[in-house]
Amino acid sequence: LAEANAVVEELVGDRAGEWDLAGEIPGDLLRKAGGLGLLCAQVGTEHGGRGFGSRENGEFTAHAGSLCSSLRSVMTSQGMAAWTIQRLGTPGQSAALLPRLTGGELAAVGFSETDAGSDLSTMATTLETDGDEVVLDGHKVWVTGAHYADLLIVFAKCEGGAAAVVVPASAPGVRVERVADPMGCRAAGHAHVRLDGVRLPASSVLGGPGLPLPLLVTAALAYGRISVAWGCVGILRACRNAAARHAASRTQSGKPLTGHQLVQRHLAELYVSEQVAAQACAHASACWDEGSPDVVVATVLAKHVSAGNAAKGASSAVQVLASAGSRDGHVVARAYRDAKLMEIIEGSNEICQLLLAEHAVATAQ
Ligand code: FAD
Repeated sequence: LAEANAVVEELVGDRAGEWDLAGEIPGDLLRKAGGLGLLCAQVGTEHGGRGFGSRENGEFTAHAGSLCSSLRSVMTSQGMAAWTIQRLGTPGQSAALLPRLTGGELAAVGFSETDAGSDLSTMATTLETDGDEVVLDGHKVWVTGAHYADLLIVFAKCEGGAAAVVVPASAPGVRVERVADPMGCRAAGHAHVRLDGVRLPASSVLGGPGLPLPLLVTAALAYGRISVAWGCVGILRACRNAAARHAASRTQSGKPLTGHQLVQRHLAELYVSEQVAAQACAHASACWDEGSPDVVVATVLAKHVSAGNAAKGASSAVQVLASAGSRDGHVVARAYRDAKLMEIIEGSNEICQLLLAEHAVATAQ
C-alpha cells in the first residue's frame, strides 16, 4: 500500500488543479497507472493486479481521492469494470479481459440513459442475438472515463432479461461524445456513448445474455459505491488538511483563525466527518473482505454517509479559507465541486435513503 500510495503521489504531483482546469488527464499517464495495476488494484495477482483486499484498496482509493478526484473517478470506473467482469464473466472471460485492464488498457461502465437514471428498469438499450453474434443499439449518458476508454462495459435489455456486454470503443457503430463542461471531476472523461447497430461476437456478453437486470446492476454498483465512498474520505482528508493549515497560519482580529471558536467548530466538524466516513468505509470493506452478506447495506451506508459528509465538509473548508480558497483550481474549490457530484452518482442520496429505509423496516424488532 505504501508503495502504491507513493507511486500515485508521484504521478499526480501538483498537477491535479491543472488537469481540472484543462478537463484532461494525460492519456499516457493513465495508461502508465493502469499498467502498474493501480487503476483496479483489487484484481488478483494471477491476472496482473495488485491483489489488494477491499480495505487496502479503499485506503489506496482514499489517498488517490485526496490528491485528485478525477483520477480517482477513472480508478472507480476501471475497478468497477474489472469487478463486473470477475463477478459476471466466465473464468475464460476473466482470464482474457482482466490482464488487459491491469496492462494499461482503460475501461468504463455505462448503465445510465437519458430516460433511465435512478430507475434503470426503464433502460432502452437493446441486445439482440444473431447467430454467433450480438447487436447492440442504444445511447448511454454520463459514462465516467469513456473519453479515455478502450473498452466499455454496457448494460442492455435482451430476450429473457438483461446483459452486460464488453464493447471495444473502436467498434463500428460506437460514438463517444464528451460531456461539455461538467461541474466537477472535470478531467474524469465523462462522455455519452451512442451504440448504433454495434455487432460483436456473442462471447462479448459477460456470462451470457438473459440475466436479471437487478443482479447485473447490483453486482457492478457494489464496487462503484464502495470506491466512491473511500474517494470521499480522501476529499475530506484534503479539505481538513487545507483548512487546518490555513487556519493555523492566518491571523485575524489579533489571533490565529484556529483561536476563533466558530472556526474551531468548522475544523472539529471536518475532523468528525472524515473519521465517521472512514469508519463507515472500513466497516463496509471488512464486510466485503469477510464475504459477509451485510456488505450490501454497509456499502450503501458508507456511500451515503461519505458523500454527504464530503459535500458538507468541502463547503466548510471553503468557508474557513474564504477568499484564499475561492478561486478555480484551489484544492478546496475543486473539492467543493467534486464532492457535490458524489451525492448524485452510484445511487443518489435519495436512492441510498430509500434502500436504507427498506433495511430499517426489514430489520425492525
Ligand atoms: P434522476 O434519476 O432524474 O433523479 C433526479 C432527482 O430525483 C435526484 O435527486 C434523485 O435522487 C431523485 N429521485 C429519482 N428517483 C427517485 C425516487 N424513486 N425517490 C426519491 N427520489 C428520487 N452513469 C453511468 O452509467 N456510468 C457512469 O460512469 C456515470 N458517471 C457519472 C458521473 C457523474 C459526475 C454524474 C453526474 C453522473 C454519472 N452517471 C453515470 C449517471 C448517474 O448514475 C445518474 O446521474 C444518477 O443515477 C441519477 O440519475 P439522473 O441524473 O437521471 O437523475
